[in-house]
Amino acid sequence: MQINLPKNVRIIIEQLNSKGFEAYAVGGCVRDSLLGRTPNDWDITTSATPLEIKSVFRRTVDTGIKHGTVTVLLGKDSYEITTFRIDGEYSDHRRPDGVTFTRELSEDLMRRDFTINAMAYSDETGVVDLYGGTEDLENKVIRCVGNPDERFDEDALRIMRAVRFAAQLGFSIDDATRDAAERHALDLRNVSAERIETELTKLLVSAHPEKLLDMYEMGITAIVLPEFDKMVDTPQNTPYHKFDVGRHTIEVIKNVPATKVMRYAALLHDTGKPETRTSDESGRDHFKGHSFVSEKIAEKVLRRLRMDNDTIRDVKNIVLWHDYGIKGNISIKSVRKMLSQMGADYFDFFVQIRRADIKGQSDYNSKVSVETLEQIIRAYDKIIEDNNALTIGDLAITGKDLIEMGMKPGPEMGKTLRKLLELVLEDPALNDRDKLMEYVKAGAYIP
Ligand code: ATP
Ligand code: MG
Repeated sequence: MQINLPKNVRIIIEQLNSKGFEAYAVGGCVRDSLLGRTPNDWDITTSATPLEIKSVFRRTVDTGIKHGTVTVLLGKDSYEITTFRIDGEYSDHRRPDGVTFTRELSEDLMRRDFTINAMAYSDETGVVDLYGGTEDLENKVIRCVGNPDERFDEDALRIMRAVRFAAQLGFSIDDATRDAAERHALDLRNVSAERIETELTKLLVSAHPEKLLDMYEMGITAIVLPEFDKMVDTPQNTPYHKFDVGRHTIEVIKNVPATKVMRYAALLHDTGKPETRTSDESGRDHFKGHSFVSEKIAEKVLRRLRMDNDTIRDVKNIVLWHDYGIKGNISIKSVRKMLSQMGADYFDFFVQIRRADIKGQSDYNSKVSVETLEQIIRAYDKIIEDNNALTIGDLAITGKDLIEMGMKPGPEMGKTLRKLLELVLEDPALNDRDKLMEYVKAGAYIP
């Protein structure tokens, strides 16, 4: 089997070869090439030690010398080159106590997590597959290299990686590997939040985010995302729904665009349901005010995962507003106020999550729900078309005008502008310099 190596990768391999070292493309890039997918990056593994690598190339960066990784810069691109290595003991279930370099490719491939990730390639040798990776690719199976219990015991993150690769590739997990993963799920308690976030995010934005249910069944979410387990355990006895909160959530995740923000917003939008659920005399469930609770839980979960602040801000805002106008009969004034508070920039996200939310519900009321959403969209279009003021910056009057009218700069001025915005949101025709001046002059809004 021939893989089309990028020119720079070929050059790096040839240069190392010419100095007497072995070198190969390895891991994810070999797997993806054999699957006909475009690799994210091309990792290179070599028998050369870090110092030897540095002696071969002119521009290098010491990325992780201790672990054997040197980054080589070629043109505008960079490539990670890692010395063949054997990982030491894993006494803490997450990282080796030390690594030793080796001149044997087979030993390097043996330390890798799954058979499909443990293949190397060079034009000279073709695919080096010592652990059945090609066969597992053909059969669409995720299988540990070696004894799965030992491999998960070494590094518990591999448990999540197994499901993540299954979700990205549409593969299933080999039974022995899956059973061992379940036995070791508790060890995920020792894995850092950053590593967990990486795997969870990759699963969520993958082609098969429904594999989150596998994580639930395997006892993984119980450790890394117990909020999801609570949702799966929360039934929805209402004609609007056909699924429990967890399975409904999966439907919503599948139906929003595969971006980090939208997939996390979908994951977390109903996290407030378990604790807001009440049942009336007829046995029907209600989840009053759940979006406010969901917003708080979303923040807690994302902080725990050490998510970046921009993502946290966006996800929280989408979660908070996802249920806006759910009862129908929306006035254009209400939509104006909603846009002013939520931020008009978030409107597309709102529409995306709302459409997905409706798709994940029963057919009982879905026609009405879609009509309500269309009504909100029409109101939005009109508001944008009419260029209605939605922020203080859109007002026909500025702080400068107020100062000229004799007002002192300070918090009172902000208060006055907010008051004027409220008026204008009620009646856009008031957004006129003279009219607003009059209001201010009348003194009604000068505190
Ligand atoms: P992606 O497309 O997500 O980058 P990848 O296969 O390149 O997929 P990486 O996390 O970038 O995955 O890791 C690169 C390679 O390093 C893997 O293919 C695997 O061989 C090895 N590897 C990564 N993490 C582990 C781990 N925790 N345990 C064992 N081997 C690992
Ligand atoms: Mg990679």
